[in-house]
Amino acid sequence: MGKVIAIANQKGGVGKTTTAVNVAASMAATKRKVLLIDLDPQGNATMGSGVDKYEVESTAYELLIEEKPIQEVVVQATTGKYHLIAANGDVTAAEIKLMEVFARELRLRNAIQPVRDQYDFIFIDCPPSLSQLTVNAMAAADSVLVPMQCEYYALEGLTALLDTIQKLASVVNPELKIEGVLRTMYDPRNRLANDVSEQLKRHFGEQVYRTVIPRNVRLAEAPSFGAPAMYYEKSSTGAKAYLALAGEILRRGKKT
Ligand code: ADP
Ligand code: MG
Repeated sequence: MGKVIAIANQKGGVGKTTTAVNVAASMAATKRKVLLIDLDPQGNATMGSGVDKYEVESTAYELLIEEKPIQEVVVQATTGKYHLIAANGDVTAAEIKLMEVFARELRLRNAIQPVRDQYDFIFIDCPPSLSQLTVNAMAAADSVLVPMQCEYYALEGLTALLDTIQKLASVVNPELKIEGVLRTMYDPRNRLANDVSEQLKRHFGEQVYRTVIPRNVRLAEAPSFGAPAMYYEKSSTGAKAYLALAGEILRRGKKT
C-alpha cells in the first residue's frame, strides 16, 4: 500500500510546491512508483512537471467533483518519471462545489483508494490555506510534511500549524501523523536562520529532517523550464538536497 504524504503549510511561498515536485522526481529516480497530486488552483506543480495546465484534459476538479475514475485523470509528468494529477483554475470551482456535496472531506481519500497499491508514494501539493481542498488532503493522507523557512516567528507559526493539523485530524483522520518538518530556502550565513534552526531542533527534535534545503537559484529557475531541478541541473545543490530528502524519507519509513 502506497504511503500518502500531504505537503502543507497555510503560509504561501514557503517551498511546498518546490518540495512536492522535487521530492516526487527524486523518489521516482530511486525507482519508486510515484503519483503527485496538484491540489493548488495555481497549478504550479503541474507546470513544474512539464504539463501545460491550460491544455490538460482533466484535473483534480474532474476527480473530486465529477468523480471521474482516477485512472482517467492521471497523466505522465513530462519531466520526471512520475504520474501527475493536474490542477488549474478549475480547481477553484471544486473548492466551492465541495461545500455542497455529501461527505465532502472524504472525496480525495475515496478517489485515490483504487490506485493506492499501485504506488509507493503519493504526494499531495496543498494550496496555501486551510481550505476544503487542504482538509481533503489531510483526510486522504497518512502523514503531513511541513516545509518552513527559518524566519522570525517561525516557531510560533509552526506550533500553531501543528496544533491546527492535529485538531483537523481528530475530526477527519485520527491516524494522521506528522511526517516531518523541512527547513527550506536555508541560508547558513544568516544568523537568524541558524538561531531559529537550533530552536526548531530543540522543540521538535526528531520531527525535523536532518536534510536542509538550501536557498538555490536553480530550484527557483527550474519551474520556468517545466522541470524538477534534477532534470534542469543535476549537479545543483538544490537537486542534491531533494535527493537526500528522498533518502531520508525512505530511511525513516523503514524505522517505523
Ligand atoms: P509554496 O508552494 O509554499 O507557495 P513555492 O515552492 O512555490 O512555495 O516557492 C515560493 C518561491 O520560492 C518560488 O518562486 C520558488 O521558485 C522559490 N523557491 C522555493 N524553494 C527555493 C529554494 N530552496 N531556493 C530558492 N528559491 C526557492
Ligand atoms: Mg505552492
